[in-house]
Amino acid sequence: MRDLLGGKGAGLAEMTRLGLPVPPGFTITTKACNAFSRSGRFPPGLRKQVEEGLAAIEARSGKRFGDPSNPLLVSVRSGAKFSMPGMMDTVMDIGLNDQTVAALASRSSDERSAWDSYRRLVALFGRIVKEIDASEFEAILDRAKAQTAGGKDTDLTAAMLKDVVGEFKSLYRREVGSEFPQSPKEQLLEAIAAVFRSWNGRRAVDYRNFHRIPHTLGTAANVQAMVFGNMGPDSGTGVAFTRNPATGARELYGEYLPNAQGEDVVAGIRTPMKIAQLREVHREIYEELRRYAELLERHYRDVQDMEFTVENGKLWMLQTRTGKRTAQAAVTIAVDMAREGLITKEEAILRVEPAQVVQLLLPRFDDAAKAGARTEGRYLAKGLNASPGAATGYVVFDPDEAERMGREEKKPVILTRVETSPDDVHGMLYARGILTARGGATSHAAVVARGLGLPCVAGCEALRIDYDAGEFRVGSHVVRRGEFISIDGTTGEVFQGRIATIDPDFEKERDLQALLGWADGARRLGVWANADYPRDAERARKFGAQGIGLCRTEHMFFETDRLPIVRAMILAAPGYRRLNAQVRGLRAERDAARLDRRADLEDQLRGLEARLSDLSQRYLGSLEKLESLQRGDFVGILRAMAGLPVIIRLIDPPLHEFLPSYESVVVEVTKLSTARADPTILERAAQSEEDRAFLEEVRRAGGGEIARGVETLLVEKEALLEAVASMREANPMLGLRGCRLGILFPEITEMQVRAIFEAACRLRKEGVDVHPEIMIPLVGHVNELAIERAALEAEAKQVMEREGVTVNYKFGTMIEIPRAALTADEIARYAEFFSFGTNDLTQTTFGYSRDDAEGKFLLDYLESRVLLANPFQTIDREGVGQLMRICVERGRKTRPEIEIGICGEHGGDPESIAFCHEIGLNYVSCSPFRVPVARLAAAHADLRSRVVHVEDR
Ligand code: PEP
Ligand code: MG
Repeated sequence: MRDLLGGKGAGLAEMTRLGLPVPPGFTITTKACNAFSRSGRFPPGLRKQVEEGLAAIEARSGKRFGDPSNPLLVSVRSGAKFSMPGMMDTVMDIGLNDQTVAALASRSSDERSAWDSYRRLVALFGRIVKEIDASEFEAILDRAKAQTAGGKDTDLTAAMLKDVVGEFKSLYRREVGSEFPQSPKEQLLEAIAAVFRSWNGRRAVDYRNFHRIPHTLGTAANVQAMVFGNMGPDSGTGVAFTRNPATGARELYGEYLPNAQGEDVVAGIRTPMKIAQLREVHREIYEELRRYAELLERHYRDVQDMEFTVENGKLWMLQTRTGKRTAQAAVTIAVDMAREGLITKEEAILRVEPAQVVQLLLPRFDDAAKAGARTEGRYLAKGLNASPGAATGYVVFDPDEAERMGREEKKPVILTRVETSPDDVHGMLYARGILTARGGATSHAAVVARGLGLPCVAGCEALRIDYDAGEFRVGSHVVRRGEFISIDGTTGEVFQGRIATIDPDFEKERDLQALLGWADGARRLGVWANADYPRDAERARKFGAQGIGLCRTEHMFFETDRLPIVRAMILAAPGYRRLNAQVRGLRAERDAARLDRRADLEDQLRGLEARLSDLSQRYLGSLEKLESLQRGDFVGILRAMAGLPVIIRLIDPPLHEFLPSYESVVVEVTKLSTARADPTILERAAQSEEDRAFLEEVRRAGGGEIARGVETLLVEKEALLEAVASMREANPMLGLRGCRLGILFPEITEMQVRAIFEAACRLRKEGVDVHPEIMIPLVGHVNELAIERAALEAEAKQVMEREGVTVNYKFGTMIEIPRAALTADEIARYAEFFSFGTNDLTQTTFGYSRDDAEGKFLLDYLESRVLLANPFQTIDREGVGQLMRICVERGRKTRPEIEIGICGEHGGDPESIAFCHEIGLNYVSCSPFRVPVARLAAAHADLRSRVVHVEDR
């Protein structure tokens, strides 16, 4: 029904059926709109049907359209299948003209309200049908209001309104070039056409793009007899929700504006009264409304957002639709309704979108502080709620400055731009929030902010930004560069000054916990977390993680106290490898050599062995130190996850990532070489913080003496430069990283495996239940895994034998290379589990650099719709997804019980989670903060697939 009649039409039909007082009317279907959009004309037969519909309204209301003595007035309201609040148009009071206005005045014996309605019609018709700028009508009205004592629209007398109508009509004539149409039929047909046209208006199209509503649906047009809320103190209009849409509380919630009509409530012309006050003023009306609210909520089994009008003490219901609500309300309402027995638990789960859980767990403004800011007059404007979350910070207009303040000075900044482009990304990266004056939900600012998880208010048209003056204006407010503002990306509001934010506390979100508990019972997919440190693992566990899907062991290498050890290890590694091979070769040669050559070879060997011993001290010695540190790390994380699986991935990134950059070492070597001739130059040229730190390093190297320091350090830095240069790669992402490292430098991964098993054995002896799983990254060929497995399992076995403890463990691999996915049947011979590293798998499948693509071209691709979604955020089902599907099938053919999960960023993305469910993965693993989202999304995937299966049958 909603497809054809739209939400509003279906609601009106349903309310009529339920016996609620609905003004008589009819609905022109969405099909007619689509026919109109295609041809620009009404479909055949429509005019006749409109006439028939009108006749039916006339019969029920006892009034006639255009009747000079008892005129019928109608409204034409848009209404699509999905609610698109404020995006399309409505024209009211159709049927008024110079004659009928007088009849209306005399019949209702309220001349004022008749003229009030007439001025509304001329303005609405002018604006919507003829596209006259609304502000021109407002300016005339404001001038008239300024002449009254109270200054409000209700202070305008009938005579004044008559003058306003005269001025409105003159404006109309000037702008349109013809008189305001006096024929009610012409008014009606033109209004219907305008409502149909509004489906393709810019606002509506943008809204549909953002909410992914198909453009082919079309809108219905509802023609309905007018009822008047502006008939005096006994009349009024209001909106009401069956539950509080902000908090979810079970109470009739809304506003009522006496002696007003239509949009006045939402337009903020006068301050409406709270619906609770209606109870005091019109008790029977309030009670009747409450009854209808209950009836409608029970009927629709969801919160209703109702519009109503009171005409001379009689209540009329004008609309009912599903009420939009905040994330917090969505959760509370779903849980309450399930507990009340109104909906099932499954329905409750499906009533909350995973994105709403994201919102609930983001920082948000303290409600009281926000209300305070409003009463202090600090509310500035509202834009598009482009990316959720709340942020407070310094206004900065220049992306370079945003980067500097955010990165170096660690200050919170809100990057404020007319609009953003790829040139601004460096500043966006270091901002706490983004505010733009122009652009929609898919504008550059919005897309990037969502990608970065930053709050963003986009298209805040009220902002007048002046980069030269370093300020923006909103009405009379001026906000200068460096002043504080606060933006709420969840609602689109912008405030001057600071507003306190609160970090959500998962433990206190009782309703959310209940809902997620039900979701856990409804999902098949496991939800694990990516965590590198015990504190992350603990948090993940609190959020409900059932395991660790990825512990990136190299992250522990980056800690400042470890980096020097890691560097020493890396600098010695290539030399150790080379020399070791030479020594092995020479030993073999010696063993096979004739006696006369032996002595010579022995000699050579001694020289090499001495050098090897030095290198091995540095290489293996560093590894030993790292082993003891890593053991501590693993004890922590395995203990935190006692009873649950922990996948520990062995070292992955190219080794040079742990070394200083080539460029920075070149600069240092150059400085030192220059300083050889004149060491004082270092002191004289020390301008920046960095220069001073370098000078200090030189002093330290020379025992306080700069000249000596220069000499010593130069030797060291030249050696470092050579090492860094020898490790440089043109394509490090495709270079010596992942399992390739472990194969070339087995000592590193063997050390890691020893540390894992020593930690596990120690915990087992303490009675802790541990389940380590060893994961090899970036495997592309089965032989890589076979080699690694043989070497590493031998190491694990040794530790367990030495410790006299058996640890249950698994050995497996990441699937990050297309070749690995395609040869999964072979790889599964050596893997007890697979984990899709979809960050790399996306990179290698698309051939897009995961580090550069977004900044260089991917965002443009999204803006110009070359790609419809960012493949680094949502799994590309057709390409990457196909490889995953093949991998699952082939892997399970070899090893049916193989455990398969995902640990790339996609593991926390609801759409990707649905895909993982579909292809039969065992679990998804994501960052701890996304675990609650993933729990819900996994349940959604399950419940939705069950619905699909039932429908298939
Ligand atoms: C991946 O590639 O998806 C992955 C999880 O590994 P990393 O991001 O560490 O390369
Ligand atoms: Mg990877």
